[in-house]
Amino acid sequence: MLSCKQVATLASQYLDKDTGTLLTWKIRLHLMMCANCRRFVRHLKITRAVTKHIAINDNTVDTEAIWSRLQEKIQREKNKDNHNHNPENGR
Ligand SMILES: [Zn+2]
Repeated sequence: MLSCKQVATLASQYLDKDTGTLLTWKIRLHLMMCANCRRFVRHLKITRAVTKHIAINDNTVDTEAIWSRLQEKIQREKNKDNHNHNPENGR
């Protein structure tokens, strides 16, 4: 069983599909049971997507812009989650 620390270290490789089959399954197993790491990997995925989008030129990475975009995305995800729990559909 992998520790949360190991999963955090491997997360980037995992998203790159750079972990072998066995390791990938070990990580998946951990993610199934660990909400913290699930959240971590999800946010890492968003961060990477945003960074890839912004960091076209390595020398002009605007961390602040990345961060605000990231927060925007997380906020949007949260709102999405809330929508799913909207009790209005009931009756
Ligand atoms: Zn964990």
